[in-house]
Amino acid sequence: MLPLADVSSAFAAVGQWIAVALPIVLPVLLVAALVVMIVLMIRMTPRTRPQQIRPDSADVVRWEDVAGVDEAKDELREIVEFLREPERFERLGARLPTGLLLYGPPGTGKTLLARAVASESGAAFFSQSAASFVEMFAGLGAARVRRLFAEARKHAPAIVFIDELDAVGTARQGSGLNREGDQTLNQLLVELDGFAQTKRVVVIAASNRLDALDPALLRPGRFDRHVHVTQPDLPGRIAILGVHTRGKPLAAKVDLTRVARATAGLGGADLANICNEAAINAGRADRDEIRAGDFDWAIERVVAGLQARRAMTAKELRVLAHHEAGHAVVALALGRAEAIVRLTIVSRGSALGYMLSLPDEDRYMRTRDELLDGIRISLGGRAAEQVVFGRISTAASGDLRAATETARAMVVDYGMGETVRTRTLRAEDRLLSEESLRLADAEEARITDEAYVDAVAICEREHVAIERLAAALLQHETFDGAQVRELLTDVAVESDAAAWVGVAQTRTAPGS
Ligand code: ADP
Ligand code: MG
Ligand code: ZN
Repeated sequence: MLPLADVSSAFAAVGQWIAVALPIVLPVLLVAALVVMIVLMIRMTPRTRPQQIRPDSADVVRWEDVAGVDEAKDELREIVEFLREPERFERLGARLPTGLLLYGPPGTGKTLLARAVASESGAAFFSQSAASFVEMFAGLGAARVRRLFAEARKHAPAIVFIDELDAVGTARQGSGLNREGDQTLNQLLVELDGFAQTKRVVVIAASNRLDALDPALLRPGRFDRHVHVTQPDLPGRIAILGVHTRGKPLAAKVDLTRVARATAGLGGADLANICNEAAINAGRADRDEIRAGDFDWAIERVVAGLQARRAMTAKELRVLAHHEAGHAVVALALGRAEAIVRLTIVSRGSALGYMLSLPDEDRYMRTRDELLDGIRISLGGRAAEQVVFGRISTAASGDLRAATETARAMVVDYGMGETVRTRTLRAEDRLLSEESLRLADAEEARITDEAYVDAVAICEREHVAIERLAAALLQHETFDGAQVRELLTDVAVESDAAAWVGVAQTRTAPGS
């Protein structure tokens, strides 16, 4: 046993020692703790390294696993060929495209396409989601971008795939709030420019939106090839359903065409989901093959779960088919048949269906007649609804916007109204009087109203052709221009504004 005095003096000694050591040890401890914390935080942030996909790994994707997006596939195939045999193209002085951007709604197969490129190209493939560039520490995102590209350069020929590009690529904000994001984006731009010199490295990116991306990314030499990956049409959906039922035991009565018809508007991911749900339902009933009823059940289940992007009902499709047929028939009657490129009732983005048309020649000016015809064609969809169903729908909102814009430009910029023909009515030039504004409004309204009356007249006269084309659209969903023209050979062409451009009118002798 120690005497009490000894204990207290021992305590005093320890206390003294602590008093001396503390000022030295404490800062060291704090610094060490901080370092450990930072290291932990960096290590905990997800997927810091670029992921390299090897052609022999377990979940390879082949070209035949991607269906219904043929245009995108062709474009990517070309790049794969370029990487495989660069000499073939370089001999001709062709330069390898550096940046290719896949864009389109989610679930249409963008990531899938990139993975197919990875296994088919034979080139080293580095994949990273742009979301992993978004970091809380300034400069870390930029460092990751730098590392990804350095790695790819080392392994050329190589492909860099940046998924979900919108995560860093959204247009820069003016304020300084998002400095870190800007740094990352800037680094990406620097790397893309650096690629122009380094051959045989291709950058592919995927994004759900094109309009949100910073324009700097889309400039020539960067992501200058844009490939739209869209919702598949009927043959595309049949092919995708084929891919996802491959190796699944289907009952003889299952008709994939029927399933495809019932799923207008859905993308590849939804269709894959339907095939899977159908199989699950069959398994639940302990059957050893998948029946048509399982698909019906799956469609209902998947479609009901997709309120925002649901497939259209048969009634809605009927209206849409007549609406689009109206555009085409009015275009034909006005001599614009050659301009029709595609007519479809498959919804893409915000447009339910659409008629894609191109001007038949590249020109810098348009006559008043041509502009009016353009408005008549825009309103042809609504006119057909009015004539066939006696009631109009919201399907025409985009058309009305286009018609209004043209009419406004005619009145305000081009002096093509009825009364104002020698001056513009633009507000920047001078303050417009109340009266001028009212005048412009009235002129615009007159132009579009009269155009609508004309469109309705055409649709009434040609309603048989509209019915025929609408029925065919409901069957086949998409036609190219030649097919549309073939279906509408009986439509009377009443005018052709383009034919009169540059043709002098014959003068009549004055006074006669
Ligand atoms: P995105 O990247 O466009 O959002 P994904 O490529 O991730 O879409 O697609 C998700 C899944 O949906 C794929 O793994 C695949 O199973 C299926 N899928 C999507 N599009 C297609 C397609 N065109 N062909 C076959 N399967 C598809
Ligand atoms: Mg994706
Ligand atoms: Zn329309």
